[in-house]
Amino acid sequence: MTSLDPSNRDRVIIVGAGPVGLVAALRLARAGITVVVLEAADLPHAEPRASTFHPPTVDLLDELGLGERLVALGRPARTWQYCMFETGDRAVFDLGVLAKDTNHPYRLQCEQLNLVIEATKMLEAEQPGALIHKAKVTQVSQTEDGVVVDAEIEGEATRLHGLWLIGADGASSVVRKDLGLAFDGETYPTVSISIGTPFPFEEHVDGLCGVNYFWADGWSFSMFQTKNMWRVGYSPPVDLDDETAVSDQEVQARLSRILPGCGPFEIVTARLYSVHRRLVERMRVGRILLAGDAAHLNSPSGGFGMNGGVHDAFNLTDKLTRVWNGEDDALLDRYARQRHHAASSDIQKTSDANHKRHREKDTTKRMAALKEMQDIIADEARAYKFMRESSLMDSLERANAIE
Ligand SMILES: Cc1cc2nc3c(=O)[nH]c(=O)nc-3n(C[C@H](O)[C@H](O)[C@H](O)COP(=O)(O)OP(=O)(O)OC[C@H]3O[C@@H](n4cnc5c(N)ncnc54)[C@H](O)[C@@H]3O)c2cc1C
Repeated sequence: MTSLDPSNRDRVIIVGAGPVGLVAALRLARAGITVVVLEAADLPHAEPRASTFHPPTVDLLDELGLGERLVALGRPARTWQYCMFETGDRAVFDLGVLAKDTNHPYRLQCEQLNLVIEATKMLEAEQPGALIHKAKVTQVSQTEDGVVVDAEIEGEATRLHGLWLIGADGASSVVRKDLGLAFDGETYPTVSISIGTPFPFEEHVDGLCGVNYFWADGWSFSMFQTKNMWRVGYSPPVDLDDETAVSDQEVQARLSRILPGCGPFEIVTARLYSVHRRLVERMRVGRILLAGDAAHLNSPSGGFGMNGGVHDAFNLTDKLTRVWNGEDDALLDRYARQRHHAASSDIQKTSDANHKRHREKDTTKRMAALKEMQDIIADEARAYKFMRESSLMDSLERANAIE
């Protein structure tokens, strides 16, 4: 029986083969549940998106054998910092304080594409043919005992049936829209830009960590180091049109403000993106569950979107496996409560505060925030608490404790 066989109903259908859909698929497949993953694109999306994996996420991924692979493909950043660019005044956070709580006391800097590629290989080994590319879902519906998915597969209209459906189809989720769920929140007024360059900044800028947030004269920027690349991020001036903002001339000029006289820099990617903060009203409607960006969006500041989505996928697949094996499906309402809480109470609030703090232009407010961070670092108990919060460790535990 192939994945597309219409008589094959005894399975979970997953829409979207991003990090969240694939982690969910792999976990269900490992639990012996048949899955089919429908992915609209023909190849994994290569544009730079998440680069930070927090310690509890890598701990979870270890269970699938993915943690080790990602560590090999990424670069562990044991420290991260906020720094006044011109004066060098800084606050350096050390994730080593979490060594007793995690096998990975660092922010793993690794492109999310690596997770997609590695999880795809593992899923193919576990359930060959489960992932179908060029399969664009156009409509979903459900009855009391099953779900129905209409898709264009290689351009051909196809109808699939299953017992449960996971909508992991990202920000513009068709699944969420078909359920008619509100996705309230806001789009931040300024766009951001992410630049990828292999230029070895670490050989030229003193005191760089793997993850850096800089406050500079009149602007702010971040610098993240993955295995072979520096990712430089900032918000271009509001009066600059999009095309000019990503033009080579403009990008070279920006990087020259960081490192005068060292250009031209090799630019591998320069991509503009909008930043949103939105949360779906419910993460479960009957036999349809939402996870990841389909359910919640937040500023990338702090690196929580994909991490939170992977936490959704683990939580959901734990419970769905139990329901599959005969337990009451009220467990899935608990999934929805737990992960909705994590998104609304922790992830959205912290990423919003991070987003605004990093874009602060007022020197007095910047200095006050820096002093606050330095005070936290100087106090062992506060530093420990802060590192647990900023790596989503406490968020994960708090959510899991909700009945
Ligand atoms: C610049 C940037 C930096 C970021 N940095 C971080 C970070 O460091 N750490 C972090 O945790 N997060 C980060 N994020 C957020 C992170 O990228 C997202 O949260 C993550 O990709 C969400 O994963 P997902 O699987 O839910 O959705 P997606 O990755 O969007 O995957 C959804 C998939 O569904 C497919 N799809 C969509 N519609 C359909 C359809 N109708 N039918 C079939 N398939 C469909 C899409 O093609 C896609 O493959 C960052 C985001 C950006 C933009």
